[in-house]
Amino acid sequence: MSLSPKCLSNKTFCIRGHFEEQFQGSTTHYMGLHNFGTGSYKLPPVAPGPCVGGGVKLQLIVAVEQEEIPRLKALYERGLQNNVPGLRLIGAKEIQAKEPFCRGLMALDSPYTGIVDYKQVAQSYAEDFQEAGGTILTDFEVTSIDMAKESPPGSEDGLKYPVIVRSKQGEEISCGHLLTCAGLYSDRLSAISGCSPEPRIVPFRGDYLLLKPEKGYLVRGNIYPVPNPRFPFLGFHFTPRMDGSVWLGPNAVLAFKREGYKLFDFSTADFLDAVTYR
Ligand SMILES: Cc1cc2nc3c(=O)[nH]c(=O)nc-3n(C[C@H](O)[C@H](O)[C@H](O)COP(=O)(O)OP(=O)(O)OC[C@H]3O[C@@H](n4cnc5c(N)ncnc54)[C@H](O)[C@@H]3O)c2cc1C
Repeated sequence: MSLSPKCLSNKTFCIRGHFEEQFQGSTTHYMGLHNFGTGSYKLPPVAPGPCVGGGVKLQLIVAVEQEEIPRLKALYERGLQNNVPGLRLIGAKEIQAKEPFCRGLMALDSPYTGIVDYKQVAQSYAEDFQEAGGTILTDFEVTSIDMAKESPPGSEDGLKYPVIVRSKQGEEISCGHLLTCAGLYSDRLSAISGCSPEPRIVPFRGDYLLLKPEKGYLVRGNIYPVPNPRFPFLGFHFTPRMDGSVWLGPNAVLAFKREGYKLFDFSTADFLDAVTYR
């Protein structure tokens, strides 16, 4: 979920479920590197001092092969263009000073990348939105979006709010403008709003391994490989979590259900949707 300040002047924000549990509190606060194009809007850096909820702040993207160095430098240039603060290219010795058990030829040091408790961040956005006069409707699964052809009987507003949004529970709201940002369901919401269902979402799930707690001292911050554009994922990385655990991963496997985060989660509709997509 992302909100720019402009959204704060809007009135209603509908959410299908409660806050998703997928992150279990910890989320990496990326700083405009990786998949961010130049000029991307990004969140402000994690402030100096403890992160929200006391998380870690440190990210190294480490080149271990010579052929990765041009890609690392290109990432550095992109970060500079995106005004990522504190960004530096560092050599083998400094890598070891920051991460004593990490070896590499060159690394991109992003000291303001950090781990935050995203639930707290989202709740803070929600408060800002409500303070600015907005209303948040939870458990409001949008099932239809239509344009009114004529104003409702007795209405003084005429066709000022022509977009009619209905929920699964039969509730209805009218609005002047509608912005949908439904994550893994964005193609379906696009289709029911009369827009194109393309590009379609084909869900992939990332599985993580958990570092044995007694080996936790091996990793201080986020350690990433140099992304390879031949693969659309961030690569296998080390992620320290708010609870002190360290995740290793992810891999990427075709998921049989959207938001299917467990191995055996299955939805016939989602599965058929994914395998019949060309
Ligand atoms: C396991 C995992 C780990 C990740 N880790 C990170 C990380 O560390 N750092 C990072 O930056 N990114 C991370 N990501 C990516 C990040 O979660 C997404 O890029 C981001 O959440 C996308 O935001 P969004 O607003 O587009 O969609 P979402 O956050 O998915 O929000 C979509 C919302 O729309 C709602 N919705 C869907 N359908 C309807 C409907 N019909 N009616 C009403 N509401 C509807 C959903 O309930 C949801 O609340 C991770 C993703 C996963 C799966």
